[in-house]
Amino acid sequence: MMQQYEAAKRTCPGALLLFRMGDFYELFHEDARTAARLLQLTLTSRDKGQDPTPMAGFPHHQLDSYLAKLVAAGIRVAVCDQVEDAKQAKGLVRREVTRIVTPGTLVDDALLDPLENNFLAAVAPGPTCAMAWVELSTGRFEATHFPEARLSDELARIAPVECLLADEAELPPEVASNGMLITRRAGWAFSRQTGREALHKHFGTATLAGFGFEDDAPEIPAAGAILDYLTETQKSSLAHIQRLAPYRREAALEIDEATRRSLEITCTLRAGRREGSLLAVMDRTQTAMGARLLADWVGAPLADRPSIENRHAAVAELVAEDALTAALREKLREVYDVQRLLSRVATGRASPRDLSFLARTLAALPALKAKLTARSSRRLQELEASLDLCPEIRGRLEAALADDCPLLSRDGGFIRAGYNDRLDELRQLASGGKQWIAEYQAAEAERTGISSLKVGFNKVFGYYLEVTHAHRDKVPDDYIRKQTVKNAERYVTPALKEHEEKLLSADEQSKQLEYELFLQLRDAVAEQLSRLEQTARTLSEIDVLAALADLARARGYCRPTMTEDAVLAIAYGRHPVLDALAPEGTFVPNDVVADDEHGRMLVITGPNMAGKSTYIRQVALITLMAQVGSFVPARSATIGIADRIFARVGASDELSRGRSTFMVEMTETARILNTATGRSLVILDEIGRGTSTYDGLSLAWAVVEFLHERVGCRTLFATHYHELTDLASTMPQVSNLNVAVREWQDELVFLHKIVTGPADKSYGIHVARLAGVPPEVIERAKEILAQLEAEHLDEEGRPKIARPETGKPGRELQLTLFGVAEHPLLDEIRQVDLERTTPLEAFQLLSRWRAALAVERPSKAK
Ligand code: ADP
Repeated sequence: MMQQYEAAKRTCPGALLLFRMGDFYELFHEDARTAARLLQLTLTSRDKGQDPTPMAGFPHHQLDSYLAKLVAAGIRVAVCDQVEDAKQAKGLVRREVTRIVTPGTLVDDALLDPLENNFLAAVAPGPTCAMAWVELSTGRFEATHFPEARLSDELARIAPVECLLADEAELPPEVASNGMLITRRAGWAFSRQTGREALHKHFGTATLAGFGFEDDAPEIPAAGAILDYLTETQKSSLAHIQRLAPYRREAALEIDEATRRSLEITCTLRAGRREGSLLAVMDRTQTAMGARLLADWVGAPLADRPSIENRHAAVAELVAEDALTAALREKLREVYDVQRLLSRVATGRASPRDLSFLARTLAALPALKAKLTARSSRRLQELEASLDLCPEIRGRLEAALADDCPLLSRDGGFIRAGYNDRLDELRQLASGGKQWIAEYQAAEAERTGISSLKVGFNKVFGYYLEVTHAHRDKVPDDYIRKQTVKNAERYVTPALKEHEEKLLSADEQSKQLEYELFLQLRDAVAEQLSRLEQTARTLSEIDVLAALADLARARGYCRPTMTEDAVLAIAYGRHPVLDALAPEGTFVPNDVVADDEHGRMLVITGPNMAGKSTYIRQVALITLMAQVGSFVPARSATIGIADRIFARVGASDELSRGRSTFMVEMTETARILNTATGRSLVILDEIGRGTSTYDGLSLAWAVVEFLHERVGCRTLFATHYHELTDLASTMPQVSNLNVAVREWQDELVFLHKIVTGPADKSYGIHVARLAGVPPEVIERAKEILAQLEAEHLDEEGRPKIARPETGKPGRELQLTLFGVAEHPLLDEIRQVDLERTTPLEAFQLLSRWRAALAVERPSKAK
């Protein structure tokens, strides 16, 4: 047996092997130690002699829960099962590795979150970086390529749990692993040739052009590596992977990794959980398929007006028809996770219960379709048209399957009576046999006068007659004694044995027949896979649109007006997450206007905790929601479609991630300055805070100036640097906002209301007064403040920090920051007449100047 174990172990290098022995899964050697540690199993040993083998194990029915723990710990696990019936085996039972489970190749419902996609990705880094990803539990398989600098954003969008990488390949250093398992593969697995062959073979095509890929597309090696890995780990059919779809991001709103994190789109910044994210608040879907599709939509919002408005129109119609939407949503509750279920059909893992769930889903479709007929919005019409009721397969499943189906296909009991004559007959025989036994028991009790005589059954002896010891002397001669138990003797008779055989064989045969009928049904479903998958996709979109309508109604959202112009006009906007989580009515709504007339750049000043971050995030989130196709939390909203959204948080506001946080802040800022366009939306929260005041202030100033003059994008800048409010005096597109604060009973109350104009400069002094700092100190502080402010402005009352005559790009930058005047020596240098200066005179001049400078800065003179 250990030889068999070693052989199995060799077929799956690098994986922990669970070796089935009877009712247990056992682990040996190093695997046993690892498992004992991770799963808290008791470590024992086999062959306790000279060289004991460490061993650990658990009962087979606990496989799922232990697998889940191992996989969550990022371990690859191979499951070696007994592949023949132990009773029929001659000698050692045959065992084979039936599957290799890794985080990215999970398919078991018990191990998967129904609301989330579980992606396996493969990356081929390089100047043109290729990436492919698959969701094995649904068969979704996509690929794309992009410049390597985008890799980190693309990985953030997909958030794969496992990523394949060639042995020699390196991920660029800025790519955060975010808990994803890196699985190394041999270099050849990523070769173009192997990839092409594997893909052609899998899809049965001679070219990939039909899927939208050239045969030398950069995606081929990555997609090929995925297929190769799946073939190795899955050991079962991959038939449900029916196409490789090109992912095109031109039509999508670009959101980079830092923005995704900072806006907490799909998970929160600190806890990293779904709960508290935008997605969680938006998700009112009724089906797991809908929840996963919504996650896709929120992860990659649209950027073209017709598609966005198509979704808005559908949501609008569903909002208006609230009774219909409620009925639709009620019906959607009867829809099962058909996508995952179909993949189990395709891979031969479906159970009778899966098929019955499919039948129930199909049974709900006519009513759903009826509710969608005669809709006026285009998308709803299209969805109605593409909702294929699949009546043939539904009819067949309904005719065949019983109302309650078991999980196991081997134990029978799921085929409806009347579906198959032979099965009915066998069942009749089996139950007839049971009837006979009941009658036989009564007759024997009568004949022997033993009223307590009973017929029982166990696996070893089959049916027997049981007589308690008290009646032992009444037992007739034709009873054959088989077994003695505590209070009774057990007997058989020839008549009982004869019927037992008939009964057991009828039972056995009927189970076998049911199993065969089940396989036929499963194959029939497999033949309809593409039709059913399309229906599943349609259902998920109906679910998402109805959920968005429900959200809009429940939370009083409005339909945004979309435009191509770079404008924003939101009235009574609310932060979608805070608004939903705060007690009803406590969130203070705010307006925002950003356009050429009022200024595209808003500088929001105010003290800490006033609500600046909330306000600017709310604007970004509302824009994002609108581009997802959702209504938005506002009374009215006009939103210019953004091509990119950037959100950055100043260093000290963010958790440290290992790198110097200020370096991170600046890298991310650089990225915005280099990639934002006039159609982008940029929100900056306390940028420049991670360094000294002047340093940070200068950077913040220069960043806004650059965005203003070179990019012209809509920008919201929250800052506590009051100096930045001066930007508005020289830059036409900048306007100032602040957060209203009230003094009430010697306390400051944040009203969270955004108003126009810069914040009160002497806010700090204000607080000091409230806190009881002596009046002399307060007065003196006011004087100093006035003095500092005066120094900060030039004779014309313009900030010295500003570029003279802004708005004329290309002029030499003359920063007069902090009043640096020209050094008198410069004038002397200008006046030297070089034509008439001898080398010696020049040398003397130079020494004099140096001496003068040395006097001025003694510490530097050496
Ligand atoms: P700042 O960025 O100015 O330091 P935040 O935006 O972080 O302030 O807001 C501070 C707190 O005030 C938040 O935790 C939030 O609960 C609350 N808050 C912010 N804006 C509002 C609002 N519009 N209505 C109600 N509460 C708000």
